Amino acid sequence: MTTSKQPLLRVENLKKHYLFPRQWLGKSRAPIQAVSGVSFDVASGETLSLVGESGCGKTTTAKCVMRLVEPTSGSVRLAGQELLVLSDEEMRAHRRDIQIIFQDPYASLSPRLSAGNIVAEPLKNFGRMSRPEQRERVEWLFSKVGLRPEAVTKYPHEFSGGQRQRLGIARALAVNPKLIVCDEPVSALDVSVQAQVVNLLMDLQAEFGIAYLFVAHDLAVVRHISHRVAVMYLGHIVETTDRDTLFSAALHPYTEVLLSAAPVPDPRKPAVRILLNGDPPSPANPPSGCCFHTRCPLARDICKTTVPPLTKRPSSNGVEHLVACHFR
Ligand code: SF4
Repeated sequence: MTTSKQPLLRVENLKKHYLFPRQWLGKSRAPIQAVSGVSFDVASGETLSLVGESGCGKTTTAKCVMRLVEPTSGSVRLAGQELLVLSDEEMRAHRRDIQIIFQDPYASLSPRLSAGNIVAEPLKNFGRMSRPEQRERVEWLFSKVGLRPEAVTKYPHEFSGGQRQRLGIARALAVNPKLIVCDEPVSALDVSVQAQVVNLLMDLQAEFGIAYLFVAHDLAVVRHISHRVAVMYLGHIVETTDRDTLFSAALHPYTEVLLSAAPVPDPRKPAVRILLNGDPPSPANPPSGCCFHTRCPLARDICKTTVPPLTKRPSSNGVEHLVACHFR
């Protein structure tokens, strides 16, 4: 899932294994293989969504890209700069290019800081602005995210959930990042405000050319905001292509299951839901061969022994479509 042209973000063979140094009840514990060698690109001004059920590794992948979690191995290059070799001090300088919006806007905002100070914090950390310039920039950011500039003196508890997420977006936007990691940014919000926040993110992308690495499980939101989608299962990317191809011509059996579980907006169309047997396997003891074989309705003998590589499928319109399955 990488292109020859240099993308803004290039992630290659990224792995995150959680190791346990001590024995547990006399037994050594196997490492948790949260992310198992994922590769993808994100271009400037593009939204790539990572989707999959809880525990598939999508949030860990996003946090590894930001080095909020240290990857076990792999490569993360932002505008050609390898991030994983940087010291903490060197990494700090690059953090202005890559910002994050968290799932829970309340937990991610300091309750002791006023809204204006929250948004000004990155400007103080990275910028060389005078106080009046900072104030002017903060008020401008407030207006950009749909908050009244007078609200700079309020505290997080005085805002609604949607307003708090707008505050989080303003903070992420403050230092003109090239890429924003959006970790389930609307899943904690009321349905009525989710669309407003998603549309705000899209408007800001159109205006400033920001790229988003968008982590989500709500396929309706993903369909609305994404240019491309990568489907993850048990730490692996099992299918990736552009948004329209994924929603109209998905190939991987797991993607079909995910899509079948999404609500159908037209009540005249009957929902045909594909049900899976069993729970996802433990990432501490992943299956051999295809990681999906223990639940896949199409599994055959080869699936138990041979890992299907993520490979290109023929496409009539030139869109890249990669799938990890022996039979699709
Ligand atoms: Fe299913 Fe086999 Fe394809 Fe894996 S490789 S998705 S088990 S058919």
